[in-house]
Amino acid sequence: MATWLELPENTGFGLDNLPYGVFSRGGGPKRVGVAIGDGVLDLFAAAEQAGEAFANLLGDGTLNPLLAAGRPVWRQVRAWVTEWLTDPAHRELVGSHLVPLDGVQLHLPFEVADYVDFYSSEHHAINAGQIFRGADDELMPNWKHLPIGYHGRAGTVVVSGTEVTRPSGQRKPRNETVPTFGPSRSLDIEAEVGFVVGVPSEQGKPVGTDAFADHVFGVCLVNDWSARDIQAWEYQPLGPFLGKSFATSISPWIVPLDALEHARVASPPQDPEPLPYLRHDENWGLDLAMEVRLNGHLVSSPPFATQYWTAAQQLAHLTVNGASLRTGDLYASGTVSGPERDQRGSFLELGWGGREPFDLPDGTQRTFLLDGDEVSISATAPGPGGSRIGFGEVRGRVLPAC
Ligand code: CA
Repeated sequence: MATWLELPENTGFGLDNLPYGVFSRGGGPKRVGVAIGDGVLDLFAAAEQAGEAFANLLGDGTLNPLLAAGRPVWRQVRAWVTEWLTDPAHRELVGSHLVPLDGVQLHLPFEVADYVDFYSSEHHAINAGQIFRGADDELMPNWKHLPIGYHGRAGTVVVSGTEVTRPSGQRKPRNETVPTFGPSRSLDIEAEVGFVVGVPSEQGKPVGTDAFADHVFGVCLVNDWSARDIQAWEYQPLGPFLGKSFATSISPWIVPLDALEHARVASPPQDPEPLPYLRHDENWGLDLAMEVRLNGHLVSSPPFATQYWTAAQQLAHLTVNGASLRTGDLYASGTVSGPERDQRGSFLELGWGGREPFDLPDGTQRTFLLDGDEVSISATAPGPGGSRIGFGEVRGRVLPAC
């Protein structure tokens, strides 16, 4: 697609992407924007000046009203932005609302309603099972029958760049008889993909796999910070709690589902065949190539296409009991790990529960995160004509415990 814009070569934020975010400049008001190349279009200002009716969905400094508007409006806005960025007739108006990305502050792009985290990578589940429970106890008997998940803490979802304070809590190593309290000694990351719900659903009415694209607006990256020692002591029998709830970071740009048509692939074969409500005819696997960096060093490249359960199946499962969806719901894929050692999406796996420290190019080793460490997770996906759809990154630095 031709444009009058000068875009950096191989940008992940090309015309086929057009991800949405919320930005501000110099302490000014929050604005809904669309990333294009190394700039951001002030979508609210441009739409308002052009007299577009959908401008009234964009004036609150959050994506929620646009998320709630539904797929026909999402498509209309996307087509409008595409036209304005390609037709030279709009050059002057659009140009006056383009801001360099390096001069803006990015904010949490939507108000998070409910937050759910899944556990849908078979490689991760097997690795974690072996590390936590031993080699004889790999997958739980339910794992291949339903996407395992838990409800997390929506209020502690933060945008990329937010610093994360090392949590304190109870931990009891296996070789000690009583728990002690203190800063986590095994702070970890989980590289995940997040799905943002736009259109709500009615309580009591499940959302089928075929309605996935009617409800889900787009996709972001997630770092599910995890305190493994707190988690290991508290998680049985009711699941993750304080080992997870202190912080979850997301990337600032929400890539619309419509930008990911070329990334759709068949998910791995499922055996046994899932129950009817979990089946789908469409391919909802997504071929995202993820990268995890610690202090700038690439430590892992998790392949999202290897996920056992798809986002459409996860949505069907989380509503099958009649639980309703709200605009701004976020659900995450679970740690993405591929079959290879350098495809593991957590330090738990990369360092095998602390027993096998891994090397960094700077000569240091890690099992878990040290104070001051900075983690970034990025991803790209195939776009049309050999282009790449960029997700930007979710980044965060560890601060010492209070
Ligand atoms: Ca997780």
